[in-house]
Amino acid sequence: MNPTKGGISLPGALIRGEEVSPAEVLAWTLEHFGSRVIMTTAFGLNGVALIHMTNAFEPSMPILFIDTGFHFPETLETKHRVVERYGLNLIEYRVPPHPEFDENSSALVPSPEAPELCCAERKVETFQRALAELKPDAVISARSRHQSETRSELALIELETHPVQVNPLAQLSLEEVERYVRENEVPYNPLYDQGFKSVGCWPCTRPVEPGEDVRAGRWSGQDKQECGIWIVDGDVVRRPQDERPSSEPNSV
Ligand code: SF4
Repeated sequence: MNPTKGGISLPGALIRGEEVSPAEVLAWTLEHFGSRVIMTTAFGLNGVALIHMTNAFEPSMPILFIDTGFHFPETLETKHRVVERYGLNLIEYRVPPHPEFDENSSALVPSPEAPELCCAERKVETFQRALAELKPDAVISARSRHQSETRSELALIELETHPVQVNPLAQLSLEEVERYVRENEVPYNPLYDQGFKSVGCWPCTRPVEPGEDVRAGRWSGQDKQECGIWIVDGDVVRRPQDERPSSEPNSV
């Protein structure tokens, strides 16, 4: 696989297999894509850490939030606090109400047998609609390899997707993210301290037990680990950079 696309090369340090910090990845992203970059988050711990980082580089970067209609009140309250703290350029996409559902009734709770359908409609379709309208060339996510088996080979930059997917926190451990949030006094979801190490929609999220993956509480007990917005051609992640052939580096 060629680590270039449309004349854009991966950071030289990355191609050489050297350590690349989240700040270097963000600097590379803004250098190459300028204002055609958005970040998306559901205001989890990684998300708020990354918002703090991106704010130092580009305070006006559009931050995409998909309101599925099923977020915990604590998540929405965290969103408010973070928006206030950083003055975020928040762009919210809300799922259109389903004609057969009353949002305040338990009839809305997705069937445990049909989360794929619900995620496809509420998350994937809404995300695709946002991409079609916002037309970014790069999307920054706060995903990390430590979060689950499906993300264990997550690359820092996925040039072969469109928009290019950028994951500045890919290499950070949970402890590093926690330390960063603590040291920078970043507002975070209070559910985190109650065991919700990854917070999604309330019908599909439980707290995790010690020793479990961060995302073990998402769709627990079901054969589903990802909502689908990051899946391209059936894969959650593309091959990591260190498996790619080297080429002329373009240093950060
Ligand atoms: Fe529906 Fe659950 Fe997916 Fe949220 S996480 S969109 S409630 S299936």
